[in-house]
Amino acid sequence: MDVAANQAEPPKAATPPLLEALAEVLQRRSRDYPEVSAPSRRRAAGVLALFYERGGEMHLVFFKRTEKVPTHKGQVAFPGGSGEAADADLAATALREAREELGIDPSRVVMLGALRPFDTFVSNFVVSPFAGFLVDPDPVFTPQPFEVEEVLELPLAQLRDKRRLLPLLAGAATASLGPEDLREIGVSAVAVDIVELAVGLGLERIERLGGLSAFLGWDRPVVAIAGWSTAAPATTGRRSRTPPQLLSERDGVLLLRSAIDGGTIQLARRDLAAWADRLGAEPASSIAGEGLDVASWDDGDPPPGQLIVSGLAQRQAHEGRFWDGAGWSQLGSSPADAGNQPMREDCSCRGCAIATRGYLSHLWKMREITAEHLLCWHNLHQIRIRIEETPTA
Ligand SMILES: [Zn+2]
Repeated sequence: MDVAANQAEPPKAATPPLLEALAEVLQRRSRDYPEVSAPSRRRAAGVLALFYERGGEMHLVFFKRTEKVPTHKGQVAFPGGSGEAADADLAATALREAREELGIDPSRVVMLGALRPFDTFVSNFVVSPFAGFLVDPDPVFTPQPFEVEEVLELPLAQLRDKRRLLPLLAGAATASLGPEDLREIGVSAVAVDIVELAVGLGLERIERLGGLSAFLGWDRPVVAIAGWSTAAPATTGRRSRTPPQLLSERDGVLLLRSAIDGGTIQLARRDLAAWADRLGAEPASSIAGEGLDVASWDDGDPPPGQLIVSGLAQRQAHEGRFWDGAGWSQLGSSPADAGNQPMREDCSCRGCAIATRGYLSHLWKMREITAEHLLCWHNLHQIRIRIEETPTA
């Protein structure tokens, strides 16, 4: 659907750089969204994530629905609602509803783009979210009393304050946990090593497969990082994840050797960001450029930073280690590993729900990949908790 066509004359006001960046990302992502305006048994709805400035700070507006409305009683919602025949498209629906619910003047909203539509299974809606920017700062909202119990205005800084975990996932390392597992654990985005993918599978091939989202089966953000080692790859006997070896670098052109099959490839440093973009990933540098603090975590306490990139869960699991609450325990090194206790007594992860230390030790001794899978599940779950419990610097 054409969001821009919705407005004859968009208001002329400077859109803040952060929102311009958001508009660019949304524009690029919208290419592969499913079409939802076609007739279907699901009811179509449009909602509006409305950005605006209050007191010089960027905010988003939500509201709490009353108990009187027919659907989603008492829930916190973005402005929006069901599409009607008179709406040009679902962006128009979102703007019309925002006017009805909160008195927002559609002619003062710059539409930034669409987010991926999603289903509400209980109420049988397919919801198309849109992002917009209200050009007038310090707006006065006029809530519609039948639908709106309370207007909720949240500073963006507060919403972005919660730190997010990016486990380092690339190539063979994704084998241990699938996209569904990661969603269940609460991972918000994944990092891929674009150099490893270039050397291993070839970036053209991934592009032909439909980009990284399709390739990984992951519809949340993908962040591209780039890594290599100057040391010769070591063999561990077990399935290993070793970064490609840098053989030489001349004029920004890297010559790399795969640790998996020994093949070599040439890759220009300056092409890496372009490749990330073509494959639908954000280069880590562009994320940092948006003012997010990106930290990588190799060991010890969680570092400060809103975005934490870490391969710790996977790496420790690969070595047969799990987080026991105080440190990393080696499977098979303690008398407890013959018993019926879980990896950690109060852990609610799936690994602890289905496997005892005795069983895990057995799997590990038999070199079963399930052991690494369950250890990784537990480690990632525990790491997420550790990050969330550490106050943001
Ligand atoms: Zn656990």
